[in-house]
Amino acid sequence: MPPARLSPQLFEGMKAFKGGDRRVRLFRPWLNMDRMLRSALRLCLPSFDKGELLECIRRLIEVDKDWVPDGAGTSLYVRPVLLGNEPSLGVSHPLQALLYVILSPVGSYFPGDSVTPVSLLADPAFIRAWVGGVGNYKVGGNYGPTVLVQQEAKKKGCEQVLWLFGPDHQLTEVGNMNIFVYWTHEDGVLELVTPPLDGVILPGIVRKSLLDLAYNWGEFRVAERKITMKELLQALEEGRVREVFGSGTACQVCPVHQILYQGQHLHIPTMENGPELILRFQKELKAIQVRFRERGSGPDACSPEKFTSHEPLDWEPPSPTPNSPRDR
Ligand SMILES: *Cc1c(COP(=O)(O)O)cnc(C)c1O
Repeated sequence: MPPARLSPQLFEGMKAFKGGDRRVRLFRPWLNMDRMLRSALRLCLPSFDKGELLECIRRLIEVDKDWVPDGAGTSLYVRPVLLGNEPSLGVSHPLQALLYVILSPVGSYFPGDSVTPVSLLADPAFIRAWVGGVGNYKVGGNYGPTVLVQQEAKKKGCEQVLWLFGPDHQLTEVGNMNIFVYWTHEDGVLELVTPPLDGVILPGIVRKSLLDLAYNWGEFRVAERKITMKELLQALEEGRVREVFGSGTACQVCPVHQILYQGQHLHIPTMENGPELILRFQKELKAIQVRFRERGSGPDACSPEKFTSHEPLDWEPPSPTPNSPRDR
């Protein structure tokens, strides 16, 4: 297989969990299939039937079922990849592509039931994605160039990168995670806010799940709105910030306790505030992932409709859905 030199390559990341009932379940895999197909179309890679791919993944996991760990916080990481492997030098629509899926057991991201916070380097000199670009697709080309910036963060004593965007230094993502701020907004209302899907944000499945849960609880305002460094600085100064965190499949929810911005070490009081919301999200996601939430099993159970795509591994696959034209 010649290397995919010109980046017609994309990937997905999802997890399978072993439940208390020993059944293995994928967390909302249809959302990964949707996102993967969108990435494929964006790169002019061949289209595929999402239901069929998911069925292949299901059978693969079934074969390797014994590799799904069952310790607290463990899972089987599932990494589908699609890349053009055309043996040609030109930049053109790939006529040949390879689709494969790698599985790997993964341990708990955080020890025990705790969460460990990360520090971030926020340097507007580095841009992850831009409007009209491909930051909203999980395509390989977005990730290679971030390694240098990650090293830069390490050199400055920070663990991850806070990606800023635009002249107003909007907060967009944390490393390869979406970002959330839980604060009292300047209008005095307690809210959970995350940047909107305006093209520079990767539409994370954990992001969507946290929004779904929070909307469902209805306990505070949930907003998808731009957040700027100026707003964050002001809120920190006025003591309005409760928790700042990243969300993604690897860690689920990851607290932020420090941001290095324009030579200033900003302390974020996430850990001092519990972190109440982060731990609640962690607990709620875990409950969904390791045992299927029954319909109406309590006031804080998530809406079943929104989580029906959290399919157990031994579910009856739906009859093939004509959801994607096999037109190539
Ligand atoms: C994968 C990814 C996320 C998180 O997406 P999930 O579906 O929640 O795992 C966030 N930001 C970037 C840049 C990513 O690549």
